[in-house]
Amino acid sequence: MKIAIYPGTFDPITNGHLDILERAVNLFDRVIITIARNSSKRPLFTEEERLELMREAVKAFPQVEVDAFDGLLVDYCRKKKAIAVVRGLRAISDFEYELQMALMNRKLNPHVQTVFLMPNERYTYLNSTIVREIARLGGDVTDFVPPVVKKALTKKVKSLKK
Ligand code: ADP
Repeated sequence: MKIAIYPGTFDPITNGHLDILERAVNLFDRVIITIARNSSKRPLFTEEERLELMREAVKAFPQVEVDAFDGLLVDYCRKKKAIAVVRGLRAISDFEYELQMALMNRKLNPHVQTVFLMPNERYTYLNSTIVREIARLGGDVTDFVPPVVKKALTKKVKSLKK
């Protein structure tokens, strides 16, 4: 059983994340898409909200598990018996940070490989920050996120304006 971990902030999950997830599902028997709790980012959606949106968005994939973790990614990989970490590479701008993380994680645990997957070109300019910003300014996010996320964004923006 080949297990991969797809870690991130997923604030919120976008069609770009799902594109990468789908590619990973074709390579591994099981993929655990998981929220890194110890990120320095201050998310718009709570952990519970993000998990719920992820669960809803990945419903079509029976091989996918949704989770959240604390601590080092390599320790989480050990615990889950994962052989790989999946990350998305959109542009050169992602590369430097991702290379540093991948090499450090390999130093910490040489048994886990980081696998980089490239999304469809149409998602190369997409990230959660831009999606949150468009939603906040009243723009249409239909092409960028699953319907359940679009609904949640509208609700969140409304609640913040109150
Ligand atoms: P992080 O805080 O770990 O960067 P994100 O939720 O922003 O968390 O991203 C998680 C992973 O998904 C990262 O590997 C990122 O490069 C990838 N990713 C995010 N958006 C896209 C996209 N539009 N296309 C491909 N990969 C993406």
